[in-house]
Amino acid sequence: MNTIRDHLNEVRENIQKACEKAGRSPQEVTLIAVSKTKPLFMLEEAYEAGARDFGENKVQEICSKYERIGELPGAVFHLIGHLQTNKVRQVIDKVAMIHSVDSLHLAQVIDKEAARAGLIMDILIEVNVAEEESKFGISCDEAGDLVRECAKLHNIHVCGLMTIAPFVENCEENRQYFKKLKQLCVDINAKNIDNINMDVLSMGMTNDYVIAVEEGATHIRVGTAIFGHRDYGNA
Ligand SMILES: *Cc1c(COP(=O)(O)O)cnc(C)c1O
Repeated sequence: MNTIRDHLNEVRENIQKACEKAGRSPQEVTLIAVSKTKPLFMLEEAYEAGARDFGENKVQEICSKYERIGELPGAVFHLIGHLQTNKVRQVIDKVAMIHSVDSLHLAQVIDKEAARAGLIMDILIEVNVAEEESKFGISCDEAGDLVRECAKLHNIHVCGLMTIAPFVENCEENRQYFKKLKQLCVDINAKNIDNINMDVLSMGMTNDYVIAVEEGATHIRVGTAIFGHRDYGNA
């Protein structure tokens, strides 16, 4: 039976190949092991196999896993799911990056709570590139203005953009959205907004991370390919 270690190695090999194809260095790509719904022992197994970045989409789950995982040297959590303003205080000191900022109001609350905790929070702006109704995230048109407003806040640091591509049968269909997010990042950088240097592109999941890496992803969020399918049975 394949272990989490085997799965991680397989994903790493695929990243390596995609980087070769695109003329990139694998060091440019951070693999975030998306551990939502998975028990602690699986995160520990992934850690043993070299995983350091863990992705979770629920504040409550980060808080409960943090006690153990936060103790492991170098291990960090990324918040990748929708964040309610009333939960910011609970997670502010437990995550390395918040990938899902999609309003100025949320950015302001994160800024305030980061100041209170005495830290500067790295954030990404979530963009709904494919304009799917069911998804969070702002439109491409709004991203520049939101970045500009966020740049005025001292306790957050906008590092780049994030998107969740549609669920598709053929992952090639998502290449257009990854290209679009990359271009958006380049365009915003070209505006030379004070204190803004956007380098992070968080895009690509189990089904399409290879394409995302080919198109310039710096952070890929992979769950199923590492930990297996999620069972939402009674959750
Ligand atoms: C669950 C989740 C992932 C990982 O999805 P897989 O298809 O299991 O790799 C990535 N990004 C976000 C925002 C998620 O919620």
